[in-house]
Amino acid sequence: PLYNANPDRYENIPYRRCGRSGILLPLISLGLWHNFGHANDYTNARSIIRTAFDHGITHFDLANNYGPPYGAAEETFGRILKQDLKSYRDELIISSKAGWDMWPGPYGNYGSRKYLIASLDQSLKRMGLDYVDIFYHHRPDPETPLEETMSALDHIVRQGKALYVGISQYNAEDTDRAAKILKDLGTPCLIHQPRYNMFDRWVENGLLKVLGDQGIGAIAFSPLEQGILTDKYIDGIPENSRAVKDGRYLQSDRITHEIVEKVKKLNHIAEQRGQSLAQMAIAWLLKDDRITTVLVGVSTAEQLKNNIDAAKNLHFSPSELNAIEEVLKN
Ligand code: NDP
Repeated sequence: PLYNANPDRYENIPYRRCGRSGILLPLISLGLWHNFGHANDYTNARSIIRTAFDHGITHFDLANNYGPPYGAAEETFGRILKQDLKSYRDELIISSKAGWDMWPGPYGNYGSRKYLIASLDQSLKRMGLDYVDIFYHHRPDPETPLEETMSALDHIVRQGKALYVGISQYNAEDTDRAAKILKDLGTPCLIHQPRYNMFDRWVENGLLKVLGDQGIGAIAFSPLEQGILTDKYIDGIPENSRAVKDGRYLQSDRITHEIVEKVKKLNHIAEQRGQSLAQMAIAWLLKDDRITTVLVGVSTAEQLKNNIDAAKNLHFSPSELNAIEEVLKN
């Protein structure tokens, strides 16, 4: 069926400025790491993307190797773009990355100029795009000079294959160095993509300060700790959960009794706020305005709608924050 985007799509979700840049991003962005591979249901994937756009989610996050197999998420997204979103291209911020293993041999991994430039060309073909809006180096590469990697990002922008660049998983010190190199090259770093959620708070230890000082935006990945920070594992491990369906990155033995006890307490605090735990976990990240957007993954459109409603209550009282700290510190 022909798709017409919801005319009220921009009334659903607030937008926040990404660092000191011209770009606004929705408080919630959608990631395609899981659920967009070849074995996943295409109709479901398509309905997730449509639901996102219909609710004002303009930002879609991909990488060269999302799938499985590698490349499949970009192919699926390219197909959906062509079918549904072609005429909306200028309303979309589409991101991709390179930095993890992608193809065999010495040029399909890490941070060389050779890898980044070739990989982006492949990504553009898979998605059927002339350019991506944001291209990231996906993880730091200790063996390649940072100058080489950053100058590859700058080059990609000058080629017109990306409008902005970002980095992911870089620590505070390397972020500071990368930001300075990029600034000197004339291509400022738009955004940093770190892992950040209630159970993984490393960014509070220096990175957020660098981002604030350098005027770089932040997009927090795995905000729900891959689904653990929701109510889904409270009464055991359901069959249709990531821990069962896809043991690659979330092994069920990580969902220990101790974790579930914490989740139950957090769920109770969320209930008192009139939110689902997923919503509270998202809102809690957004309380810091250096976090531009929270990058969720979802396996259904329903989950996405639930997550979007996090924006309805972003306020935390001091006593709620204390209660959360009490749970997290034990
Ligand atoms: P999340 O922490 O948001 O976990 C997503 C999973 O949580 C879903 O697949 C679903 O699992 C479950 N979930 C989501 N919403 C709900 C809800 N409302 N109720 C119940 N369960 C829910 O994020 P991801 O780990 O998927 O990461 C998000 C994105 O971040 C990725 O798609 C990718 O774009 C990016 N990323 C970037 C990385 C990097 O190195 N830069 C690394 C990892 C991710 P289920 O399948 O069980 O239903």
